[in-house]
Amino acid sequence: MPGSDTMINTATKTHCPYCALQCGMQIGPELAISPRTDIPANASGALCQKGWTAGELLTNGERLTAPLLHGEPVEWDVALDYVAYRLSAIRAEHGPDAVAVFGGGGLTNEKAYTLGKFARVALGTSQIDYNGRFCMSSAAAASIKAFGMDRGMPFPITDLDDADVVMIAGGNVAETMPPFVRHLDGPRLIVIDPRRTQTAKLAWLHLQPTPGTDLALALGLLHLAIADGLVDEEYVAARTTGFEEVRTSLSAWWPEQVERVTGVPVHHMRQAVRALAAVDKAYILTGRGAEQHAKGTDTVTAFINLALALGLPGRQGSGYGCVTGQGNGQGGREHGQKADQLPGYRKIDDPAAREHVAGVWGIPAEDIPGPGRSAYELLDALGTPEGPKALMLFGSNPVISAPAAEHVAGRIGALDLLVVCDFVMSETAALADVVFPVTQWAEESGTMTNLEGRVLLRRRAATPPEGVRSDLDVLAALAQRLGHTFETEPVKVFDELRRASAGGAADYSGITYERIAEETGVFWPCPSPGHPGTPRPFLDRFAHPDGRARFVPVQHRPAAEEPDEDYPVYLSTGRVLAHYQSGAQTRRIAPLVQAAPEPYVELHPDLAEQLDITPGDVVRVSSRRGEAKAVARISDAIRRDTVFMPFHWEGANRLTNPALDPTSRMPEFKVCAVRVERDS
Ligand code: SF4
Repeated sequence: MPGSDTMINTATKTHCPYCALQCGMQIGPELAISPRTDIPANASGALCQKGWTAGELLTNGERLTAPLLHGEPVEWDVALDYVAYRLSAIRAEHGPDAVAVFGGGGLTNEKAYTLGKFARVALGTSQIDYNGRFCMSSAAAASIKAFGMDRGMPFPITDLDDADVVMIAGGNVAETMPPFVRHLDGPRLIVIDPRRTQTAKLAWLHLQPTPGTDLALALGLLHLAIADGLVDEEYVAARTTGFEEVRTSLSAWWPEQVERVTGVPVHHMRQAVRALAAVDKAYILTGRGAEQHAKGTDTVTAFINLALALGLPGRQGSGYGCVTGQGNGQGGREHGQKADQLPGYRKIDDPAAREHVAGVWGIPAEDIPGPGRSAYELLDALGTPEGPKALMLFGSNPVISAPAAEHVAGRIGALDLLVVCDFVMSETAALADVVFPVTQWAEESGTMTNLEGRVLLRRRAATPPEGVRSDLDVLAALAQRLGHTFETEPVKVFDELRRASAGGAADYSGITYERIAEETGVFWPCPSPGHPGTPRPFLDRFAHPDGRARFVPVQHRPAAEEPDEDYPVYLSTGRVLAHYQSGAQTRRIAPLVQAAPEPYVELHPDLAEQLDITPGDVVRVSSRRGEAKAVARISDAIRRDTVFMPFHWEGANRLTNPALDPTSRMPEFKVCAVRVERDS
């Protein structure tokens, strides 16, 4: 069994391989996992079921240990030579943009950085993006507009411990990252979610809006705050601009109108906004439920407008934050694997940024390509006459995780060349011409930036199985065949990343592996070795040149696809406790499979009765994009007009709608119209 002889002799301090909380853990001796208590995210000693079973990833029997060329094991040099030859031939025939690169929000900072450099320097392509576009991009875009900078939670997570009130819009932390809940023991919790989730069950107040109407709800809350005289006028005058324009823009969103659109009673809205305004320490957090919409940027903007009106951001003990999801969702969007970015959270079309990064890379600035296609647009263009003919894919499984997944699988099937780096045969790897077997998690060192913006060190604890190499080795070996020299040692890559990020918004230049180890993480920006890092970047000023936050007027509009006669029910998608993202890792861990063995459709008892569906029935769910089957679960935790499916298995994303947010290019994962029937 490949990897079954993996042995760890000593205890090594590291972090969980999965979500953005990046819980501190110790692995070893052997495969024993124990929580660390020096990492604030889980200093309580908590881990979730995924974390406790993470050691089993290292001994998984389905581990890939040899490169595969058209499904057959081959020597590394054979596979690398083949890929380099094919990439060169495709570039020569169709131009550099005929080769695309797709990354992931779980890759270490070192890998994300090297991937961006590989695309721009070794391949000369603009066609690079990553699956983080599907997760955090709307909150990032809204934060940049409002604050001039995006750092998911611009405060340490432990600040929440002392809060009086926390509002979470579209986040189910009790299920997705349970140790987070330990930070919510004290505050009064307000949850906005169409489902009565595990998090909503903990709430003092649960607002249950119609899917796709969070934006209207946020506008209604701000309308009420203004009408009830709850605005922090002093703060608004001293620290913001644009309030009057937003005040005027709210005229259509009086409370009764918002109740009609959202289904949330006015008295609940009033309770929520009064609770937030009545206390000294209040936070508003958003998650994917509010963000993964074709209007996600505007929805987050509306919640930020509410937070600004109440005087929360940039004050110790209060604030706005986005609860990032993927393991390195924060760092992954800072160092250049995004179509429009260069390392240090620099914009790729900024001449000064291009000069700086080109200097670190040793190339002329004009050789750095411009912005490329966003993630879904890139996948949608694969194999088309104008689109990429080859795709290199790292740390992602879009056949399961992209919207309109069947269409995406078709586009991938139209490629001349698909190269996948993974450590197991994911559904996307199974379609590849070449699969490179790579190291994972505890077999490699690297940095991850957690949901607080704290840069953490993941340490190598185990020797990888024979035949496996790191993604950094793969990229360097291909770069060398294409005429370039890349570093492969994570610490050396990080030193280069530090130089590339220096002077950017996400400045890592003062962070070293040694400092991270000694200080159990360092917050960016950290612009010099003596700098203490920046846990709360907005205390004195926001990142716009005038130091003020921006109110930005936004308007509600319906979901891109509303229910109709043919598809009369809303579908919403999300995660379950036992699984992570596309499930490529967690669906291979026996205790997690035992805990959550199969996909399901959750529907309200009234809807189930109307459709003659009983618990355990196999249900067919169809949308304009595809069809999926799953077992019925009947629960009054969901609205009568909505069904819910977890997205860790094939199926849910065959249904979802790839309508894109105009700013962030985030697809509308969280709402579409479906038909639900008992499978005869
Ligand atoms: S999956 Fe997230 S919440 Fe669970 S142990 Fe890992 S980092 Fe912590």
